[in-house]
Amino acid sequence: MARASQDSQDIMSLSQEEMISWMLERGLPGYRGTQLFEALWRRRVQDYHEISSWPKQLRESMASSLPLPRLEAATVHRGRDGTIKVLARLHDGQHIETVVLPHDYGYSVCVSTQVGCNMGCAFCASGLLKRTRNLTAGEILDQVRLANDLIPDENGAISRVDLMGIGEPLDNYDNVVQFIKVAHHPLGFHLGYRHFTVSTSGLVPAIYRLAQEEIPITLAVSLHAPTDELRRQLMPIDKAYPIDPLIEACKHYFEKTGRRVSFEYALLAGVNDSDENARQLTDLLSGYSCHVNLIPWNPVPEHPFQPSSKKRVEAFQRIVQEHGVSCTIRKEMGQDIEAACGQLRRREEELLSP
Ligand code: SF4
Repeated sequence: MARASQDSQDIMSLSQEEMISWMLERGLPGYRGTQLFEALWRRRVQDYHEISSWPKQLRESMASSLPLPRLEAATVHRGRDGTIKVLARLHDGQHIETVVLPHDYGYSVCVSTQVGCNMGCAFCASGLLKRTRNLTAGEILDQVRLANDLIPDENGAISRVDLMGIGEPLDNYDNVVQFIKVAHHPLGFHLGYRHFTVSTSGLVPAIYRLAQEEIPITLAVSLHAPTDELRRQLMPIDKAYPIDPLIEACKHYFEKTGRRVSFEYALLAGVNDSDENARQLTDLLSGYSCHVNLIPWNPVPEHPFQPSSKKRVEAFQRIVQEHGVSCTIRKEMGQDIEAACGQLRRREEELLSP
Protein backbone atom coordinates (compact mmCIF):
# COMPACT_ATOMS: atom_id res chain seq x y z
CA MET A 1 0.00 0.00 0.00
CA ALA A 2 1.36 3.47 -0.88
CA ARG A 3 2.47 5.59 2.02
CA ALA A 4 0.18 8.52 2.67
CA SER A 5 3.12 10.98 2.62
CA GLN A 6 3.35 10.48 -1.13
CA ASP A 7 0.28 12.67 -1.20
CA SER A 8 1.73 16.19 -1.52
CA GLN A 9 -1.04 17.51 0.77
CA ASP A 10 0.03 15.29 3.66
CA ILE A 11 2.88 17.48 4.79
CA MET A 12 2.99 16.21 8.39
CA SER A 13 4.00 12.73 7.19
CA LEU A 14 7.12 13.84 5.34
CA SER A 15 10.68 13.07 6.39
CA GLN A 16 13.16 15.94 6.59
CA GLU A 17 14.52 15.09 3.12
CA GLU A 18 11.00 14.91 1.70
CA MET A 19 10.18 18.32 3.19
CA ILE A 20 13.30 19.80 1.56
CA SER A 21 12.22 18.34 -1.81
CA TRP A 22 8.67 19.58 -1.25
CA MET A 23 9.96 23.14 -0.82
CA LEU A 24 12.37 22.95 -3.77
CA GLU A 25 9.60 21.66 -6.07
CA ARG A 26 7.65 24.84 -5.24
CA GLY A 27 10.58 27.15 -5.92
CA LEU A 28 11.32 27.74 -2.24
CA PRO A 29 14.73 27.31 -0.55
CA GLY A 30 15.31 23.74 0.65
CA TYR A 31 16.25 24.89 4.16
CA ARG A 32 12.63 25.96 4.66
CA GLY A 33 11.87 22.22 4.68
CA THR A 34 14.30 21.61 7.53
CA GLN A 35 12.86 24.56 9.42
CA LEU A 36 9.35 23.19 9.03
CA PHE A 37 10.38 19.68 10.10
CA GLU A 38 12.05 20.97 13.25
CA ALA A 39 9.17 23.33 14.04
CA LEU A 40 6.57 20.56 13.72
CA TRP A 41 8.21 17.94 15.91
CA ARG A 42 11.06 19.32 17.97
CA ARG A 43 9.46 22.67 18.78
CA ARG A 44 5.88 21.41 18.49
CA VAL A 45 4.36 24.57 16.99
CA GLN A 46 0.59 24.49 16.68
CA ASP A 47 0.54 26.20 13.27
CA TYR A 48 2.74 27.99 10.73
CA HIS A 49 2.26 31.38 12.41
CA GLU A 50 4.55 30.23 15.22
CA ILE A 51 7.50 29.63 12.85
CA SER A 52 9.26 32.89 13.55
CA SER A 53 12.18 32.15 11.20
CA TRP A 54 9.78 32.28 8.23
CA PRO A 55 8.75 35.49 6.45
CA LYS A 56 5.18 36.52 7.18
CA GLN A 57 4.15 35.96 3.57
CA LEU A 58 5.27 32.31 3.62
CA ARG A 59 3.50 31.67 6.91
CA GLU A 60 0.28 33.13 5.54
CA SER A 61 0.39 31.38 2.19
CA MET A 62 1.05 28.00 3.86
CA ALA A 63 -1.72 28.57 6.41
CA SER A 64 -4.25 29.36 3.69
CA SER A 65 -3.20 26.71 1.16
CA LEU A 66 -2.28 23.81 3.42
CA PRO A 67 -3.57 24.11 7.02
CA LEU A 68 -1.84 21.79 9.49
CA PRO A 69 -4.22 18.99 10.46
CA ARG A 70 -3.10 18.89 14.10
CA LEU A 71 -4.92 16.40 16.36
CA GLU A 72 -7.29 17.86 18.89
CA ALA A 73 -7.86 16.40 22.34
CA ALA A 74 -11.63 15.73 22.38
CA THR A 75 -11.45 14.51 25.99
CA VAL A 76 -8.59 14.09 28.44
CA HIS A 77 -8.93 11.68 31.39
CA ARG A 78 -6.32 11.86 34.13
CA GLY A 79 -6.00 8.81 36.41
CA ARG A 80 -4.99 8.88 40.05
CA ASP A 81 -1.71 7.13 39.20
CA GLY A 82 -0.77 9.83 36.67
CA THR A 83 -1.97 7.95 33.58
CA ILE A 84 -3.46 10.29 30.96
CA LYS A 85 -5.87 8.85 28.45
CA VAL A 86 -6.79 11.05 25.50
CA LEU A 87 -9.56 10.65 22.99
CA ALA A 88 -8.09 12.51 20.02
CA ARG A 89 -10.11 13.88 17.10
CA LEU A 90 -8.68 13.51 13.60
CA HIS A 91 -9.19 16.11 10.88
CA ASP A 92 -12.00 14.02 9.34
CA GLY A 93 -13.91 13.87 12.64
CA GLN A 94 -12.95 10.28 13.55
CA HIS A 95 -11.45 9.41 16.92
CA ILE A 96 -8.50 7.44 18.23
CA GLU A 97 -7.00 6.85 21.68
CA THR A 98 -3.59 7.84 22.96
CA VAL A 99 -2.35 7.04 26.46
CA VAL A 100 0.49 8.69 28.40
CA LEU A 101 2.01 6.61 31.19
CA PRO A 102 4.29 7.88 33.96
CA HIS A 103 7.27 5.72 35.00
CA ASP A 104 10.31 6.03 37.26
CA TYR A 105 12.38 6.96 34.21
CA GLY A 106 9.92 9.48 32.75
CA TYR A 107 6.95 9.10 30.40
CA SER A 108 5.92 6.69 27.67
CA VAL A 109 3.10 7.01 25.20
CA CYS A 110 0.93 4.29 23.70
CA VAL A 111 -0.20 5.33 20.22
CA SER A 112 -2.90 4.08 17.86
CA THR A 113 -2.03 3.18 14.27
CA GLN A 114 -5.44 2.64 12.65
CA VAL A 115 -8.98 3.88 13.10
CA GLY A 116 -10.48 0.60 14.34
CA CYS A 117 -9.01 -2.84 13.71
CA ASN A 118 -9.90 -5.80 11.50
CA MET A 119 -8.01 -8.50 13.36
CA GLY A 120 -11.04 -9.53 15.42
CA CYS A 121 -9.26 -10.69 18.58
CA ALA A 122 -12.00 -12.14 20.78
CA PHE A 123 -10.96 -10.29 23.97
CA CYS A 124 -10.28 -6.82 22.58
CA ALA A 125 -12.32 -3.61 22.85
CA SER A 126 -10.48 -1.87 19.99
CA GLY A 127 -11.47 -4.54 17.49
CA LEU A 128 -15.19 -4.14 18.23
CA LEU A 129 -15.15 -1.27 15.75
CA LYS A 130 -13.77 -2.34 12.39
CA ARG A 131 -10.97 -0.47 10.70
CA THR A 132 -12.19 2.48 8.69
CA ARG A 133 -8.75 3.67 7.65
CA ASN A 134 -5.04 3.66 8.40
CA LEU A 135 -3.49 6.56 10.26
CA THR A 136 -0.90 8.51 8.31
CA ALA A 137 2.65 8.76 9.65
CA GLY A 138 1.85 12.40 10.51
CA GLU A 139 -1.17 11.37 12.58
CA ILE A 140 0.90 8.87 14.56
CA LEU A 141 3.65 11.47 15.05
CA ASP A 142 1.10 14.00 16.18
CA GLN A 143 0.01 11.67 19.00
CA VAL A 144 3.54 11.94 20.39
CA ARG A 145 3.38 15.73 20.03
CA LEU A 146 0.01 15.81 21.80
CA ALA A 147 1.30 13.52 24.55
CA ASN A 148 4.29 15.81 25.11
CA ASP A 149 1.94 18.79 25.32
CA LEU A 150 -0.15 17.05 28.01
CA ILE A 151 2.66 16.03 30.36
CA PRO A 152 2.19 18.03 33.56
CA ASP A 153 5.92 18.24 34.33
CA GLU A 154 7.37 21.16 32.36
CA ASN A 155 10.72 19.45 31.96
CA GLY A 156 9.22 16.05 31.17
CA ALA A 157 9.13 14.56 27.71
CA ILE A 158 8.05 11.32 26.12
CA SER A 159 11.04 8.99 26.07
CA ARG A 160 9.42 5.70 24.98
CA VAL A 161 6.76 4.89 22.40
CA ASP A 162 4.61 1.75 22.37
CA LEU A 163 2.66 1.10 19.18
CA MET A 164 0.02 -0.86 21.07
CA GLY A 165 -3.09 1.31 20.86
CA ILE A 166 -5.99 0.85 18.45
CA GLY A 167 -5.06 -1.05 15.29
CA GLU A 168 -2.58 -3.64 14.03
CA PRO A 169 0.60 -1.62 13.36
CA LEU A 170 2.03 -4.04 10.80
CA ASP A 171 -1.23 -3.83 8.81
CA ASN A 172 -0.24 -0.17 8.28
CA TYR A 173 3.36 -1.03 7.60
CA ASP A 174 4.71 1.82 5.46
CA ASN A 175 3.21 4.59 7.59
CA VAL A 176 4.40 2.93 10.82
CA VAL A 177 7.99 2.60 9.58
CA GLN A 178 7.96 6.20 8.35
CA PHE A 179 6.63 7.29 11.76
CA ILE A 180 9.46 5.50 13.58
CA LYS A 181 12.15 6.98 11.32
CA VAL A 182 10.83 10.53 11.68
CA ALA A 183 10.36 10.22 15.46
CA HIS A 184 13.94 8.88 15.70
CA HIS A 185 15.41 11.80 13.71
CA PRO A 186 17.51 14.28 15.77
CA LEU A 187 15.29 17.15 14.58
CA GLY A 188 12.18 15.05 15.23
CA PHE A 189 11.63 13.62 18.74
CA HIS A 190 15.16 12.17 18.75
CA LEU A 191 14.07 8.87 20.31
CA GLY A 192 16.48 5.92 20.12
CA TYR A 193 15.17 2.93 18.14
CA ARG A 194 15.41 0.83 21.26
CA HIS A 195 12.78 3.07 22.80
CA PHE A 196 10.07 1.88 20.41
CA THR A 197 7.96 -1.25 20.86
CA VAL A 198 5.77 -2.41 18.00
CA SER A 199 3.01 -4.81 18.88
CA THR A 200 1.64 -7.28 16.36
CA SER A 201 -1.01 -9.97 16.35
CA GLY A 202 1.46 -12.01 14.31
CA LEU A 203 1.62 -10.94 10.66
CA VAL A 204 4.49 -13.25 9.71
CA PRO A 205 5.54 -11.71 6.34
CA ALA A 206 5.62 -8.23 7.90
CA ILE A 207 7.89 -9.50 10.73
CA TYR A 208 10.41 -10.73 8.12
CA ARG A 209 10.15 -7.39 6.33
CA LEU A 210 10.65 -5.43 9.55
CA ALA A 211 13.78 -7.47 10.33
CA GLN A 212 15.36 -6.04 7.14
CA GLU A 213 14.67 -2.37 7.96
CA GLU A 214 17.75 -1.81 10.11
CA ILE A 215 15.66 -0.15 12.80
CA PRO A 216 16.34 -2.27 15.92
CA ILE A 217 13.02 -1.72 17.67
CA THR A 218 11.41 -4.15 20.12
CA LEU A 219 8.79 -6.48 18.73
CA ALA A 220 5.93 -7.49 21.02
CA VAL A 221 3.94 -10.43 19.65
CA SER A 222 0.44 -11.06 20.93
CA LEU A 223 0.45 -14.80 21.56
CA HIS A 224 -2.26 -15.26 24.22
CA ALA A 225 -2.40 -19.06 23.79
CA PRO A 226 0.16 -21.86 23.60
CA THR A 227 -1.63 -24.05 21.00
CA ASP A 228 -3.15 -23.26 17.62
CA GLU A 229 -6.41 -24.87 18.68
CA LEU A 230 -6.86 -22.43 21.54
CA ARG A 231 -5.26 -19.44 19.80
CA ARG A 232 -7.67 -19.74 16.86
CA GLN A 233 -10.59 -19.29 19.24
CA LEU A 234 -9.06 -16.05 20.51
CA MET A 235 -7.24 -14.71 17.47
CA PRO A 236 -8.53 -15.45 13.94
CA ILE A 237 -5.11 -14.43 12.53
CA ASP A 238 -3.79 -17.79 13.76
CA LYS A 239 -5.57 -19.51 10.83
CA ALA A 240 -3.43 -17.57 8.38
CA TYR A 241 -0.24 -17.58 10.48
CA PRO A 242 -0.10 -20.46 12.98
CA ILE A 243 2.21 -20.54 15.97
CA ASP A 244 5.18 -22.50 14.51
CA PRO A 245 5.86 -20.17 11.55
CA LEU A 246 5.22 -17.22 13.87
CA ILE A 247 7.90 -18.37 16.33
CA GLU A 248 10.28 -19.01 13.39
CA ALA A 249 9.73 -15.42 12.21
CA CYS A 250 10.44 -14.14 15.75
CA LYS A 251 13.68 -16.15 15.92
CA HIS A 252 14.69 -14.61 12.61
CA TYR A 253 13.85 -11.15 13.94
CA PHE A 254 16.09 -11.74 16.97
CA GLU A 255 18.96 -13.02 14.81
CA LYS A 256 18.77 -10.02 12.47
CA THR A 257 18.26 -7.25 15.03
CA GLY A 258 19.67 -8.63 18.29
CA ARG A 259 16.41 -7.51 19.93
CA ARG A 260 14.73 -10.04 22.21
CA VAL A 261 11.08 -10.55 21.22
CA SER A 262 8.43 -10.05 23.89
CA PHE A 263 5.41 -12.39 23.85
CA GLU A 264 2.23 -10.84 25.22
CA TYR A 265 -0.15 -13.16 27.05
CA ALA A 266 -3.46 -11.83 28.43
CA LEU A 267 -4.73 -14.18 31.11
CA LEU A 268 -8.42 -15.12 30.85
CA ALA A 269 -9.92 -17.13 33.69
CA GLY A 270 -10.52 -20.77 32.76
CA VAL A 271 -9.56 -20.15 29.12
CA ASN A 272 -5.76 -19.95 28.79
CA ASP A 273 -4.49 -19.69 32.37
CA SER A 274 -4.09 -23.30 33.57
CA ASP A 275 -0.85 -24.88 34.81
CA GLU A 276 -0.89 -26.99 31.67
CA ASN A 277 -1.15 -23.88 29.49
CA ALA A 278 1.88 -22.43 31.30
CA ARG A 279 3.87 -25.62 30.66
CA GLN A 280 2.78 -25.67 27.00
CA LEU A 281 3.97 -22.10 26.70
CA THR A 282 7.40 -22.94 28.08
CA ASP A 283 7.66 -25.96 25.74
CA LEU A 284 7.20 -23.50 22.94
CA LEU A 285 9.65 -20.87 24.13
CA SER A 286 12.34 -22.43 26.33
CA GLY A 287 15.87 -22.36 24.95
CA TYR A 288 15.09 -19.26 22.94
CA SER A 289 16.07 -15.75 24.08
CA CYS A 290 12.70 -14.06 24.53
CA HIS A 291 10.48 -12.60 27.20
CA VAL A 292 6.90 -13.31 28.28
CA ASN A 293 4.75 -10.40 29.41
CA LEU A 294 1.66 -11.57 31.31
CA ILE A 295 -1.20 -9.10 31.06
CA PRO A 296 -3.94 -8.98 33.69
CA TRP A 297 -6.92 -8.61 31.35
CA ASN A 298 -9.22 -5.59 31.66
CA PRO A 299 -12.86 -6.66 31.36
CA VAL A 300 -14.78 -5.53 28.26
CA PRO A 301 -18.56 -5.78 28.83
CA GLU A 302 -19.25 -7.14 25.31
CA HIS A 303 -16.89 -10.09 25.78
CA PRO A 304 -17.74 -13.17 27.87
CA PHE A 305 -14.33 -13.51 29.56
CA GLN A 306 -13.29 -12.91 33.14
CA PRO A 307 -9.81 -11.86 34.24
CA SER A 308 -7.69 -14.48 35.99
CA SER A 309 -7.26 -13.98 39.73
CA LYS A 310 -4.05 -12.40 41.01
CA LYS A 311 -3.13 -15.76 42.58
CA ARG A 312 -3.57 -17.55 39.24
CA VAL A 313 -1.51 -14.96 37.39
CA GLU A 314 1.32 -15.38 39.90
CA ALA A 315 1.14 -19.19 39.73
CA PHE A 316 1.27 -19.02 35.94
CA GLN A 317 4.31 -16.74 36.11
CA ARG A 318 6.06 -19.10 38.55
CA ILE A 319 5.72 -22.08 36.22
CA VAL A 320 7.01 -20.13 33.23
CA GLN A 321 9.99 -18.83 35.20
CA GLU A 322 10.78 -22.26 36.68
CA HIS A 323 11.19 -23.52 33.14
CA GLY A 324 13.83 -20.89 32.45
CA VAL A 325 11.74 -18.42 30.45
CA SER A 326 11.97 -14.75 31.44
CA CYS A 327 8.49 -13.63 32.53
CA THR A 328 7.00 -10.53 34.13
CA ILE A 329 3.48 -9.35 34.96
CA ARG A 330 2.46 -6.05 33.42
CA LYS A 331 1.69 -3.39 35.97
CA GLU A 332 -1.92 -2.31 35.82
CA MET A 333 -2.30 1.42 35.28
CA GLY A 334 -5.15 3.83 34.68
CA GLN A 335 -7.70 1.51 36.32
CA ASP A 336 -10.00 4.41 37.17
CA ILE A 337 -10.18 5.77 33.58
CA GLU A 338 -11.62 3.10 31.22
CA ALA A 339 -8.47 1.03 31.20
CA ALA A 340 -9.09 -1.31 28.27
CA CYS A 341 -7.84 0.13 25.00
CA GLY A 342 -10.64 1.07 22.63
CA GLN A 343 -13.32 1.65 25.25
CA LEU A 344 -13.23 5.45 25.12
CA ARG A 345 -13.43 5.53 21.36
CA ARG A 346 -16.30 3.04 21.25
CA ARG A 347 -18.27 5.02 23.81
CA GLU A 348 -17.73 8.21 21.81
CA GLU A 349 -18.85 6.56 18.54
CA GLU A 350 -21.95 5.17 20.26
CA LEU A 351 -22.82 8.64 21.56
CA LEU A 352 -22.38 10.12 18.10
CA SER A 353 -24.34 7.46 16.22
CA PRO A 354 -28.04 8.20 15.66
S1 SF4 B 1 -5.72 -6.91 20.14
FE1 SF4 B 1 -4.72 -5.52 18.67
S2 SF4 B 1 -4.77 -6.68 16.74
FE2 SF4 B 1 -6.26 -7.69 18.08
S3 SF4 B 1 -8.27 -6.69 17.58
FE3 SF4 B 1 -7.32 -5.56 19.31
S4 SF4 B 1 -6.21 -3.84 18.35
FE4 SF4 B 1 -6.60 -5.38 16.76
